[in-house]
Amino acid sequence: MSPSMTTTSTPAAPETYDVVVIGGGAAGLSAALTLGRALRSVLVIDAGHPRNAPAAGAHNLLGNEGITPLELIARGQDEARSYGAHITTGTVTDVTGTVEDGFTVSLDAEAPRTSRRGAPTPALAEAPATVRARRIVLASGAVDTLPPIPGLLERWGKDVIHCPYCHGYEVRGQQIGVLATSPMWLHQAKLIRQWSDDVTVLLDSQPAPSAEDRAALESRGIRIVEGTVGRVLSADDRLTGVEVAGIDGPLPLEAILVGTQMSIDSALVTSLGLHTEENPMGEFVPVDMRKATNVPGVFAAGNVTSVGSMVAASMADGVMAGAALNMDLVEEDFAHALIPA
Ligand SMILES: Cc1cc2nc3c(=O)[nH]c(=O)nc-3n(C[C@H](O)[C@H](O)[C@H](O)COP(=O)(O)OP(=O)(O)OC[C@H]3O[C@@H](n4cnc5c(N)ncnc54)[C@H](O)[C@@H]3O)c2cc1C
Repeated sequence: MSPSMTTTSTPAAPETYDVVVIGGGAAGLSAALTLGRALRSVLVIDAGHPRNAPAAGAHNLLGNEGITPLELIARGQDEARSYGAHITTGTVTDVTGTVEDGFTVSLDAEAPRTSRRGAPTPALAEAPATVRARRIVLASGAVDTLPPIPGLLERWGKDVIHCPYCHGYEVRGQQIGVLATSPMWLHQAKLIRQWSDDVTVLLDSQPAPSAEDRAALESRGIRIVEGTVGRVLSADDRLTGVEVAGIDGPLPLEAILVGTQMSIDSALVTSLGLHTEENPMGEFVPVDMRKATNVPGVFAAGNVTSVGSMVAASMADGVMAGAALNMDLVEEDFAHALIPA
C-alpha cells in the first residue's frame, strides 16, 4: 500500500509509487480513486487549474448536478485520500524511463502548496523534486485560449460560454451572440438556437456563410452581423453587449457562445514520447479502449485524450485507465513471481 520510503542512502533515493497520476482534475482523481481501492500506492501531482474552474457550477453530472467545480475536486481529493492516495501540488516538468526500468517523474513544486479549500496540502509535507513510478497516468487536461477581444476573458465561464450542454440552460431565453472563431460557428449557432430564439452570429473575421446556410439560419430567426468585434461590454458583473466595427452604438447581448482554441501540454507530451493527433477542436493524445497510449506503461485519461469530453466522461476515462493499469501491474506481479530468485 505505501510507497517504498527512503532509508539511509545519500542522496536519498526518490520515493517509488506504483502509479504517478499527472493532473488531479476529474480524470486524474477518478484514476487515483480506482487505484487506491485496488490497494496500489498512488501519487497525484496537480498544478491546480481544472479547466472548468471559472464556472459557477458543473452540470450534466448525475448525483452532483450543479456542484461548484472546486468543491467537486475537493470531494474527489478526500475520497481518493481515504483509500491511501497521496496528493501534492506541483507541475510535472519531465518524465524519463521505460516500463521495464520504471519512470522518473520530475516536478516543480514552486506552486503554492495549498489544497482547494485553502488549507495546507496534508498528504506530503515536502514535495520531492523527483519520484519514481511503475506506471504513469497522464490526466493533465487541456487549456482554452480565447480570441484576444478586450472584455471577453473577464466574462469567461460566466456569461461567455463554450458548451451549450454545460451552460446553455443557464442562459436560456437570453440575447445570445455566437462569436465565430472557426467554421464550427455554423454548428454552434444552430445548436444554441435550441436554448433561445434571440441568437445573433458575430462573424468577426470569419467568411460570410453561403446563401444556403444563411437562408437556413434566417429561417429560424438567427441574425448574422458582419464586422470585427472590438470589445465585449459588461456592467454590474453582467455581460451587456459588444462593440462591432461599422455598427453605431453597442449591440445588446446577455451571453456569448464562443469556440475556444484548446491546447494540451506539448512539452510534457513530448517528454513522454507520446503520439498526438488533431481534430477541429485541437490536439489530443490518442488512446485505445484501455486508455493505453503508444508508450508502454503510460495511460491517459480526460481532456488530454479527448478535448471535447465533459466531466462525467473524463471521470469514466479515469476509472477505466485505473482499472486497466491495475491489471497491467497484476500481470507484471505474476510474471515476476515466476522468475526464480
Ligand atoms: C468554462 C468551462 C465550463 C465547463 N463546464 C462544464 C460542465 O458544466 N459540465 C461538464 O461536464 N463539463 C464542463 N466543462 C468541461 C470540463 O472542464 C472538463 O470535461 C474536465 O475539466 C476534464 O477533466 P480533466 O481531468 O481531463 O482535466 P482538468 O479538469 O482540466 O484537470 C487537469 C488538471 O491537471 C493539471 N495539470 C496540467 N498540466 C499539469 C502538469 N504538467 N503537472 C501537474 N498537473 C498538471 C491542471 O492544472 C488541472 O488541475 C467545462 C469546461 C469549461 C472550460
